[in-house]
Amino acid sequence: MEILYRSTNRKSNLVTFKQAVLKGQAPDYGLYIPTYIPSFEKKQIDSFKDKEYYEIAFSVLYKFLKDEISDEIIYEIVKKAYNFEVPVKKIDSNLYILFLDKGPSCSFKDFAARFMAGIMEYFANEDNIFLNVLVATSGDTGGAIANAFLEKKNIRVFILFPKEEITDIQRKQMTTLGKNIIPIGVNGTFDDCQGFVKRAFNDKDLKFLNLTSANSINISRLLPQSVYYFYAYSKIENGKVSFSVPSGNFGNLMGGVIAKRMGLPIEKFIVAVNENDEFPKFLETEIYKPLIPSKKCSSNAMNVGHPSNLARLIDLYGGWMYDERNHSGKVIKYGVIKIKPDMEKLKNDFISFSITDKEVEETIKRYYNEYKIIIEPHGAVGIKAYEKAKISGLTISLETAHPGKFPEVIKEILGFEPEIPESLKKLIKMKENYFVIEKDYNEFKEFLRSLK
Ligand SMILES: *Cc1c(COP(=O)(O)O)cnc(C)c1O
Repeated sequence: MEILYRSTNRKSNLVTFKQAVLKGQAPDYGLYIPTYIPSFEKKQIDSFKDKEYYEIAFSVLYKFLKDEISDEIIYEIVKKAYNFEVPVKKIDSNLYILFLDKGPSCSFKDFAARFMAGIMEYFANEDNIFLNVLVATSGDTGGAIANAFLEKKNIRVFILFPKEEITDIQRKQMTTLGKNIIPIGVNGTFDDCQGFVKRAFNDKDLKFLNLTSANSINISRLLPQSVYYFYAYSKIENGKVSFSVPSGNFGNLMGGVIAKRMGLPIEKFIVAVNENDEFPKFLETEIYKPLIPSKKCSSNAMNVGHPSNLARLIDLYGGWMYDERNHSGKVIKYGVIKIKPDMEKLKNDFISFSITDKEVEETIKRYYNEYKIIIEPHGAVGIKAYEKAKISGLTISLETAHPGKFPEVIKEILGFEPEIPESLKKLIKMKENYFVIEKDYNEFKEFLRSLK
């Protein structure tokens, strides 16, 4: 059966994978989701045991892409993208930690960004077009995208970041690369950056640029995030397993949900959130109340009060959620649930805990004292939620970033700075180059218009 992509808002036409990737968001503002999720037989999943990460990535992604992209190309893209280690470490008889922080930008966003960059380069060359990719970042996404797209042919990437709201390391991950990576510091907030990007896509004067988006709702960022669930499962003892997932926009979690639909025997997902507790409250009360603005916590990549991928999750559980908009496209009400999902099934598959910054600190200290492992705030949210869940059987908790990305926070908690990975260390001495613009869309637009 050919896999097409439909919109969670139910008003757009079905599209191919390629169209979904290049459009990013559906014209009805919904998120693309596959019309059909392919699955594996148990013996195929068992055969992953002795495979490398990129080989498992090939098997999983091939199922989705085989009608549109040749085997050789898929293989080439995943082999290039996944050239770093993915450790699964046993902590005790019930708990493993899956380290997703060994990619070039030291956050799990590398898994998605590197696949997406390979796919977009392939599509640009196939159609013989030049793509201008726009992305807004509040921190980790920018570094992963910059690194992944560096020197990709026929693609240029503009990364907008709030100049005063990101760490030095995060900024240097974007501003030291040069070539086809164009960082733009905005004297404003992340929401301003996001707003510029959205307006640029709808701006007729910028049509000539073939603008496309690399933001987190793109389907090409979601599918590769199902691979590490298969990988982690294949590297531990047999049986059912649960995953604890530190969550913000729920992209990571949706990767797991897709893996489960593909046949991976996942018992439960522990949805680990920081003090932005709209999801655990929703499971408990069945009433969804987005937190706008979101709360600021030490796990800053998870400061999300209305997860963008929640619309996909609700959709896969039989419901319908959307943001209500007026005729000019401006959101007037966030997270309206038009059709309630199957709450019983949701509660069966997911448990969710909100973890405070204080609990994060305590967990980081305890894991260092007991196991001599340095975890960072996002991973600590996952581990603490696992402890609260008290479920029987094996659990794999995801560590989504390297502690060396947060030296100040770790120093405050443990009293010393964590080891900084080589890939980050070398940034410190490198020369930075970036444009600075004011919080003014027209300045941004003129900047883009002046490009050849
Ligand atoms: C983005 C990010 C998250 C949250 O992932 P979602 O897919 O948005 O839920 C968690 N940890 C780190 C380090 C991140 O960069």
